[in-house]
Amino acid sequence: TLRCEVISVGTELLLGQIVDTNASWLSKKLNDVGLNVLHHQTVGDNANRMKAVFQQAQNRSDLVIVTGGLGPTEDDLTREVAAELFDTSLLMDKQVMNQIEQFFGDRNISMTENNRKQALHFNGGQTFENYVGMAPGLAFKHQGVYWFFLPGVPKEMKDIMSNGIIPYLHQLGLTDGKLYYRTLYFQGIGESILETELLDLIQSQTNPTIAPLAGDGYVMVRLAAKANRKDEAADWFDELEELIRFRVGEYIVNQPRSKTEQVIEHFKDQKISLASCESLTGGLFSSTIVDHAGVSSFYYGSLITYNNQAKHVVADVPANILDEEGAVSHACAKAMASGAANKLNTDVAISFTGVAGPNDEDAISPGTVYIGLSVYGNVYSKLFQFTGSREDVRQAATDAGMKYLYD
Ligand code: ATP
Ligand code: MG
Repeated sequence: TLRCEVISVGTELLLGQIVDTNASWLSKKLNDVGLNVLHHQTVGDNANRMKAVFQQAQNRSDLVIVTGGLGPTEDDLTREVAAELFDTSLLMDKQVMNQIEQFFGDRNISMTENNRKQALHFNGGQTFENYVGMAPGLAFKHQGVYWFFLPGVPKEMKDIMSNGIIPYLHQLGLTDGKLYYRTLYFQGIGESILETELLDLIQSQTNPTIAPLAGDGYVMVRLAAKANRKDEAADWFDELEELIRFRVGEYIVNQPRSKTEQVIEHFKDQKISLASCESLTGGLFSSTIVDHAGVSSFYYGSLITYNNQAKHVVADVPANILDEEGAVSHACAKAMASGAANKLNTDVAISFTGVAGPNDEDAISPGTVYIGLSVYGNVYSKLFQFTGSREDVRQAATDAGMKYLYD
């Protein structure tokens, strides 16, 4: 495969004023398409040293990417130095010139003569349009070596590389494969157990690689491979998937479903009726269920009981519980759940009471949440301690409730 080299031009880089993020980004990009970068070099805005660095790259590399020094100012010398090495001249690109003139015209600023420099390209070379800035990317093939020149501004450099040069390298057949992915979805098995089951494969595989990732109520395993063709990657994936299926195939699903979808399916299929009674979530649980169509067959509704009076009047929470144990307690969560089950006459009811924050309430810290459950007349409750903002706590309580119902 091609020997690649990245050269960063700019005295600021040598002074330590800016970090050379371009070189690492470019290396990663080249590696992604199977090209090996063997050298990184940095050189200041100095014609002699730049020329020496370019000459060295010409001698030892097959593909060279240079960033920086394509700007309009005196110290931007990249074009001139390269033209000398290539023994070619610089030509004015009419179209680019028009664009530059228009750029200044649109902004009503007068253009100085040196801005014309940015419209110069190598005689016998090629340009790559810059859609996010002024200086286009340049290319030249010199004695078998492919040279590419990009602006130093990271946004422009990335855009030209991703949308101009990489496709061009593919087109020339210079790339060595491309990354392909396949994702497998698992339900009913946790991320850590899944990882343990596949650990030897994860650790021994380099192409394709295997990475487990947690989703909402499911786990994914992402296979990634660098291959020359899609069907080549597909063959490898098939082989690996077979190994994975042999071990944990019973947990693989085609379409992963969220916890909420799993709860809905369970209650619907089993014909179990459900109600809720919400304090700190204020209807978020209900809304999460009702986001899905066709739930009225099992979901009757929610009692939103935010203060103590509402808990007492609407959900029949006994006054002595509110007085003695307080609203944020196991006793209140249980009373809210049975209150909702009784009032709406459902098989199951879930309740949420707690402190969403940001401040303590009656010396109880934010994130303290009790979730109550009434199941055919039996009541339970569970204490949770969540962290984060008010929204985080309310969302976490809703998610935990969904999980509580499913388990
Ligand atoms: P322009 O054509 O827009 O003037 P240029 O090709 O002349 O750009 P430079 O003048 O070298 O490029 O750099 C422009 C800016 O881009 C720098 O001020 C710096 O913030 C950023 N930059 C340049 N090189 C790098 C690099 N290697 N890594 C990260 N940022 C860079
Ligand atoms: Mg510049």
